[in-house]
Amino acid sequence: MATGSLTIDLDALVRNWQALDKASGSGVETGAVVKADGYGLGAAQVARALARAGARRFFVAVAEEGAALREVLGRAPEIYVFGGHMPGDADMLGDLDLIPMLNSVDQLTRHFEALAGTSFGIQLDTGMNRLGMEPGEWAAVAEVALTAGPKLVMSHLACADTPDHAQNRQQLEMFHAMTDGIDVPRSLSATGGILLGEDYHFDLTRPGIGLYGGLPFEDATPVAHLSLPVIQTREVEQGESVGYGSAWVAEEPGVIATVSGGYADGLIRAMGNTGHLFFDGVPCAIVGRVSMDLITVDISHLTAAPKALDILGPDQSVDDLADAAGTVGYEILTSLGGRYKRLYTGGAG
Ligand SMILES: *Cc1c(COP(=O)(O)O)cnc(C)c1O
Repeated sequence: MATGSLTIDLDALVRNWQALDKASGSGVETGAVVKADGYGLGAAQVARALARAGARRFFVAVAEEGAALREVLGRAPEIYVFGGHMPGDADMLGDLDLIPMLNSVDQLTRHFEALAGTSFGIQLDTGMNRLGMEPGEWAAVAEVALTAGPKLVMSHLACADTPDHAQNRQQLEMFHAMTDGIDVPRSLSATGGILLGEDYHFDLTRPGIGLYGGLPFEDATPVAHLSLPVIQTREVEQGESVGYGSAWVAEEPGVIATVSGGYADGLIRAMGNTGHLFFDGVPCAIVGRVSMDLITVDISHLTAAPKALDILGPDQSVDDLADAAGTVGYEILTSLGGRYKRLYTGGAG
């Protein structure tokens, strides 16, 4: 076996969803965000496991993802599209009963012209300035939109992973100002917002990263386990260099393991000379640059040559690895490549 094994623990995923559902509070529904192929872990397997666990509302970024998800989930679950109704989407949205979150007056007009009478939601901008209608736009179309009966009105927090950030409360107040008194289910919070407390929960929460074991959900159970096989080990003398650019030089004699996996597999180059792999809980430093298909690791302190080294799992979370690479857990997960042997455990419900 020359490629890494990526094991995805669907029981851990379900446990994370249940924990975030509990944190969302009673009377609040908990959806599931499965965009970007379920944060890189496989939207089909992830969504099936969550549907079995009781999730009824799923969120994707674009209509094409929704179409693939509909095939997996059947007719019953609701599938919302954050990107809204884009030109050319009408057939897909209508035929597959996908719910576009309309982000602008343009999208609203497009939707009402092409798919009058079909489901839609409204996304409002409360300060992130990324997607959604601004207060003035919303004021202009709210009456027409509400008469047509949206399924959901939502907004998104920019700083929810920083609980003390003043913008959280500002966006909360703006969301109240824009939606109080309307008779439509409301949603403001993703993973971070759930953890901010019940003021932020409204009728429905939309966790993503926390389901997959990432921060800011500190109590998450790890979902992704990635193990990389050792192809070769070699001894190096003091002064010998390892890898491209000779970016690491041995200060003393040692042993280097070369493992299968590199930046083409999403193990991004920035973790060269800083990250770690693990053997039975013992950290082993990445030495030299990360290559396209290979990583070199200092195993001088191990008593036996390992067959494989772990890079994600109980010893190292996606956020630990992200720290070493100067990025976020979201990017580590969604970068995981197509060459791994993917193994799904649990999730049978
Ligand atoms: C990605 C996304 C989510 C999920 O966010 P997490 O931080 O992964 O929980 C929720 N809502 C919107 C609009 C998103 O784009």
